[in-house]
This record gives sequence, C-alpha cells and structure tokens, in this order.
Amino acid sequence: MTVKRSTKAISFATTLAIVAISLPQTTLAFAPSTTTQHTKSISSTTTKLNVIGEQASSIGPAQLLRKLKSDLPQIDWLASGNAPSSNKIDIPDHVAHVLAQHDAPKRIAENEERTQRIRSRAIQASEDAMKLRGMLTGDDDAKAWWRTQRSIPEGGRKITKDDPLTVLIAGGGLAGLVVASACHSKGMKVALFEQASSYAPYGGPIQIQSNALRAIQQINPEIYEELVKAGTCTADRVSGLKIGYRKGNKLAGLYDAGDWLVRFDTVGPALEAGLPATVVVDRPVIQQILVKYGFPEGTVRIKSRIETFEDLGKGRGVAVTLEDGTKAYADVLVGADGIWSQVRKNLHGLEAGAGGFAASGAAGGALDDKEARKLAKDTVKIAESADRRFSGFTCYAALAPHRASNIENVSYQILLGEKKYFVSTDGGGERQQWFALIREPAGGVDPEPTPEDPHPKLTRLRKEFACTGDGDDDGNVWDPFALELITASTEDMIKRRDLYDGAPLLTTLDPQRLLSPWAKGPVALCGDAAHPMMPNLGQGGCQSTEDGYRLIEELSKVQHTKDVPGALGGYSRVRVIRTAIIQGFAQLGSDLLVDFDLMMTIPLLGPFFLTMTQLSMPFILRYLYTPSF
Ligand SMILES: Cc1cc2nc3c(=O)[nH]c(=O)nc-3n(C[C@H](O)[C@H](O)[C@H](O)COP(=O)(O)OP(=O)(O)OC[C@H]3O[C@@H](n4cnc5c(N)ncnc54)[C@H](O)[C@@H]3O)c2cc1C
Repeated sequence: MTVKRSTKAISFATTLAIVAISLPQTTLAFAPSTTTQHTKSISSTTTKLNVIGEQASSIGPAQLLRKLKSDLPQIDWLASGNAPSSNKIDIPDHVAHVLAQHDAPKRIAENEERTQRIRSRAIQASEDAMKLRGMLTGDDDAKAWWRTQRSIPEGGRKITKDDPLTVLIAGGGLAGLVVASACHSKGMKVALFEQASSYAPYGGPIQIQSNALRAIQQINPEIYEELVKAGTCTADRVSGLKIGYRKGNKLAGLYDAGDWLVRFDTVGPALEAGLPATVVVDRPVIQQILVKYGFPEGTVRIKSRIETFEDLGKGRGVAVTLEDGTKAYADVLVGADGIWSQVRKNLHGLEAGAGGFAASGAAGGALDDKEARKLAKDTVKIAESADRRFSGFTCYAALAPHRASNIENVSYQILLGEKKYFVSTDGGGERQQWFALIREPAGGVDPEPTPEDPHPKLTRLRKEFACTGDGDDDGNVWDPFALELITASTEDMIKRRDLYDGAPLLTTLDPQRLLSPWAKGPVALCGDAAHPMMPNLGQGGCQSTEDGYRLIEELSKVQHTKDVPGALGGYSRVRVIRTAIIQGFAQLGSDLLVDFDLMMTIPLLGPFFLTMTQLSMPFILRYLYTPSF
C-alpha cells in the first residue's frame, strides 16, 4: 500500500500532547454526573478522590467539563428516538478498504489445534519460568563474572571486542529482558537481577504494537520472528470505542448500547510507516522467547533484589548491593525495575519507602488474593513517597477462555461508561483479555469470599456491568458484551489492582531531572521505572522496548568507560520527549474517556470533545507508529 506519512498529522498529535502535558497537575475534586436515562437532573455533590503524592489524581479537561456541566443552565439536551443503524456496522467502508489491501496481514483463523497450541504454550512458558529454566543457579552463580571487582585505573578503561562494556540490569520485566537482549546483541557482557521468586503475570497477553516490533526486529531478528510466530495478529480487524449504554445528545446524535463511537484500523498507519503489524502475545511466552533467544543461559538471576548502588566515579563503573548483601560490579547499571523502582529511588534521592514490592507489571505481582489485598494497601503508602500519581482507577483483569461473539470483526474495543470503562482484546487461542476500570479511591479491596457470596469480585462486576432490568447503580443498562466476558471468567482468574502512573517528566522542576531525567553517572532508568503510563494506549511495554533499543544504540558508541555518562545522558534526552507525549496522551485519554457521559450532556462543548476523540485516533496512531525512536 502506498500511503504517504503526513507530517501535518504528526504535528497535530504533538500539539495535542503538549497541551495534555502542560495541563496543571493539581488536586481535583470530582462531581459524579447523575444524568442517566432515568434522571436528567444534575447533581454537583463532590466525591473527592484519594490523592496520592505530589502528582494529583487527574488532569484538567475532566474537571473543566464537570465544572461547566454544573455551571451551565440545565436544558433538555438528551436526544430521543432511534439510533442510526450505521452505528452498529463493525467494519465501515474506510476500515474495510484498508483491511482489503494486498499487503494487509491476515490472522490465522482459530481452530481446535491452534487454540490448544496457544493455550498450552502459555502454560508451558509459565512452568519454565517457575523452574528457572535458562536462569542462573548453582555453581555458575558462584563463578559469575560480576562478583569480582576489577581493578580499573582512575579515568577508566578502553572498551574492546575482547574486553567489552559490562552491564547490570535491575528487573526482569519486559524492559529488563529487552535491554539484556540488546546488550548481548551488541557484544556487551550482561547480567540481569530479578527480585521475584516466580513470575506472576497480571492480565495475560499484551499487544506488541508495530513500533515495538520494529525495535525488537532491529535488536534481534530471531526474537522478532519467534514473537510473530507465537502471537496472534490483531491488526486484521477493527478497533475502537463503543458507547456502553444508550446515550446521546441532539448534536452528537443518539447511540444505543454497544454502538460504535470511533472505529479505526491499526494496520494502515503501520503500513504507511513500513512497520510490521501489531500482534498479541502472552507475557510468559514473551519472557520465554527473550530468555531463550536474547542472551546466554544464566544471564538472569532470580530472587535478587537490588537494594543500593554506588557510583565508583571517574570511569570505574558501579558497585551494586543486593538485598542479601551480595555485591555485583560492572561499568553500567540499568534500572528496569518497574514503577516502584528502587534504582530510581536512589537516583532521584526519593524518600525511604519509595522503592517497594508493591504490585508491579510482568513479574513480582500478587500471587493470590490475600497478597493482592496486602499489596493494594502497601502501594498507597509507597506511592506517596515515590512521587507517583494514583490514576483514580482500580482495574479488574482476566483472560477468559472464551470465543467472543465479535471475534471475526473486532480485535480491541472499549465500552465507555459513567465512572468506568470496559476494555477487551482478542488474546489469541479463543481467549479474550478484559479489563474493567472503575473510578474509586486507592487501596480498595474486595470482601473475602463467604458461604453467602463465594465470588465477591464476580458479584460486584455483574452489578457494575448489568445489562438487564435497572442496570447498574446509576441506572445504566450495559451492552451485554461486558457480561459475556465477565461470566466466561471464574473468580480466581480475576485479578485486581489499582492503577498508578507518573506525571510526564517534563513537568518536574528538579534541575538534575530536567537536564538528564533518567540518567546520572553510570546509571540509567528505562521502562515503567522511567515513564509509567495508563494502559489504554497499550504502549507501556512498547515504549520500554523502544527504550531498550535506543539505550544500547547509545552505549554501543562508547569506546572508553569515561564516556558512559555522556551516552546515558544522550539516551535520556532522546527518549524523554516522545515518552512524555505518549504518557500525556494516555492520561488524557483515560480521564476524558470516562467522562464521555458528560460530553453527551454538555451542549456544544460535549459534542466538540466527542468529535475530537473521533478525529484524533488516526493521528495518535501515526505518532505512535514511527520507525525511528
Ligand atoms: C492492565 C494493563 C494492560 C497493559 N497492556 C499493555 C499492552 O497491551 N501493551 C503494552 O505494551 N503495555 C501494556 N501494559 C503496560 C506494560 O505492562 C508495562 O508498561 C510493562 O510491563 C513495563 O515493563 P517493565 O519491565 O518496565 O516493568 P515491570 O513489568 O513492572 O517489571 C519490573 C520488574 O522489576 C522487578 N523488580 C522491581 N524492583 C526490583 C529490584 N529492586 N531489584 C530487582 N528486580 C526488581 C519486578 O519484580 C518486575 O519483575 C499494560 C499494563 C496494564 C496495567
């Protein structure tokens, strides 16, 4: 397909993002709308969100909308009648046209054999991780290269092919594993320390989008081939936003429950930029592929929490201390240790308690409900010291072993609601991954199961997304798709955790962080440790992958250890603008999406925001899908 990349599109997206980033990060109080199909009156009672740390719980537009809503004269603005039938068409002409291109990818249709293969591979990969297959144990551990402190003269040493740069990595999530693979592909010596004793993936598969696939392709083509082989193509169907329940206004039109608000394809922007099409792959499988093809056996050491580090200065590298007192030495330390990064805590001089064991991304999360309850409470405390933002949402997630009713046409959709939204994506192998994001204060936990209610999470979710009778507590009767997936999941499949992110780092006033936000001396941050973001763009892991590529491109230019700080500073400066923009988009999207209800009821401004939502998605995708990062 020959489509030219539009620079106008990119600058439009960038402008939007800069607006998003420059919005004030203040403490906000929210007035939940009580406008429903049943009641059209407006209440301005305030529900104060639990605000954690300096960066507050929400950004500007959502609060602006709520204020406008309560200040404006209340007129009968809701549309009535029948919604147009075109709202129901899954694949409109503009998407059908792109999907029909000869170079557009086609997914392998699900059948019994494939379903079995995909599901058992995920189970096998989890078992491999539990058995520490390919990881550092026994005698090899005692003889590991990083245990010996080399005598390096003041001023550093030359890097040669036979005496390459040495790198330690904190954290074995996606970011750490990609950095380790990238280091190895450039001939560096690498060791990775992961605190967890077993992997506890949260939420099943993730989308590896076109930009991240390109980064991996450049790091190691074999890993790319294996991921594509193991994954399920999601770019061959439509994605978009649906209205969760019947709603509408006289300008924006009427929508029935489950009607499309925005439909888009992800393949057009990928092909325009010459990138591979997005795939979805189970987290343990991604990990297994990276461990097998990325670096030599024994690179990853489990049950190894990095506690502190010391910059040895003058090109002599870094000394790291693990929780059990073990020492490790290298030229570089990369903190890929997730949102509650201990390396970041030390690097930025944050308060004690900022680096924690709170529920994290790919690994180290809650193993069971009991631990999840404890982590939810602990995280509130850690977030305060760690200068992270509570997003205002708790998130229930599961991977339902279920052939979804929309599987042939839809790969990813969000059902928009009042104070909540429901995200689902094809996880491959006739499984649907879903996330229910519900706005409520941080630290909430579900009741313990009792004989009267042995399934408290399911009980809550059935009510939140009720599709019959009076609907949910606000009287909204939901599209049945949410319940289709919820009821296809069992109580133990559903994991819950609060979502935190960070303010885009450009908002900081700390001079050191402004100059070089993620690097100091021989130490750098990447992945969620650097830029934790809301999941609605599916880019957190993808940006970690881009980080890995750029970090090692910069480090591979180093010919002398005294040049390491310059290379890490260069990496940090290249990456910070792009990731801050994407973080800003994800925050803005999350805050505005959940307020679609208000948009439907505010004259003029509401429809304007809705139209912007409809128009902006292709531009955002074009900004995300770039071949250079
Ligand atoms: C609901 C949801 C859906 C998502 N969907 C997508 C998606 O579709 N696509 C996408 O790209 N992204 C997605 N993301 C985001 C993605 O999961 C994260 O951005 C990504 O996992 C971050 O990887 P990471 O390696 O930086 O951090 P993590 O995955 O958090 O890994 C950090 C690791 O470091 C370890 N660790 C922590 N402290 C230490 C220490 N001191 N020493 C040693 N080890 C330590 C932890 O145990 C952990 O294993 C989603 C996120 C959520 C919440």
